[in-house]
Amino acid sequence: MPEGNEIHRWAERHYAAFGGRPVRVDGPQGRFTDSAVIDGRKLERVMAVGKHLGYDFGKDRILHVHLGLQGDFTEGSGPLLPVRGALRLRMWNAAAVKKPAGPDASKPHRWYSEDDGSDNLAPEKVAWVELRGPMDCTIYSQEMWEKLLQRLGPDPLNGDGPEKFVKRVKKSRKTIGELLMDQSVAAGVGNIFRAELLFRAKLNPFTPGKDVAESTLRSIWKDAGVLMKAAMVDRRIVTTKPKDRPHGKGQALKEEAHYVYRRQGRPCFVSGTKILTEVMAGRNLFWCPVCQVAA
Ligand SMILES: [Zn+2]
Repeated sequence: MPEGNEIHRWAERHYAAFGGRPVRVDGPQGRFTDSAVIDGRKLERVMAVGKHLGYDFGKDRILHVHLGLQGDFTEGSGPLLPVRGALRLRMWNAAAVKKPAGPDASKPHRWYSEDDGSDNLAPEKVAWVELRGPMDCTIYSQEMWEKLLQRLGPDPLNGDGPEKFVKRVKKSRKTIGELLMDQSVAAGVGNIFRAELLFRAKLNPFTPGKDVAESTLRSIWKDAGVLMKAAMVDRRIVTTKPKDRPHGKGQALKEEAHYVYRRQGRPCFVSGTKILTEVMAGRNLFWCPVCQVAA
């Protein structure tokens, strides 16, 4: 599932590609039936909060998208492609799709999960996007959007301070590992950031929220903002410090980008101990039993 960094990046890209102009929208698969509500209207802004996107086409015309586990966007320049697969929604710039695809758009399908940041299409050259497999793609009223915001916790990428995060964690008996996956505690943090933030804080994932030191929670919040912002820019999540990587200098290799996430059974870069895993809050948690002992 994409985490907040991807969602905020899509919001910026899609606004750069389509914002401030009328946008064409349709729903070829037949499951998104409200395209007429927004088709041809001006896209005023694209909002991102946690893992939710809101394309604002005017009052009570907010296209809400939650990618969930399966959802993904593809994008390209030049004409629309023939409809393939379970294509929930297409959004395009009517003038741009009349132009031929540029030489830099030789790979029109760009799944975020395969995007290593190289050979990237400049957002102003994006003529269309396709959306497949989202958990939600529906029109929200202003009231529905406000309700969503009330339900969600603070988002490190929206400049929210740590206060609400600290307060919600400190009043809970649930483990910090569970709480970091709770979108009403920290919006946008997902499974990769949960594991890596806990490692970087040297924090035991099984510590009850109420027992975690406030100073630790504040530094986790700050760390989340820095790491997620960097992941937005770099289009990859790198949480290891150069001094801890086996290769030290230069860009992090794929296998040394994370301390613990999906590294179960392999030696910790810091202590050499085998990384452990177990399911927590519905997803696999990864941690080092030697480095992560702080409460
Ligand atoms: Zn370790």
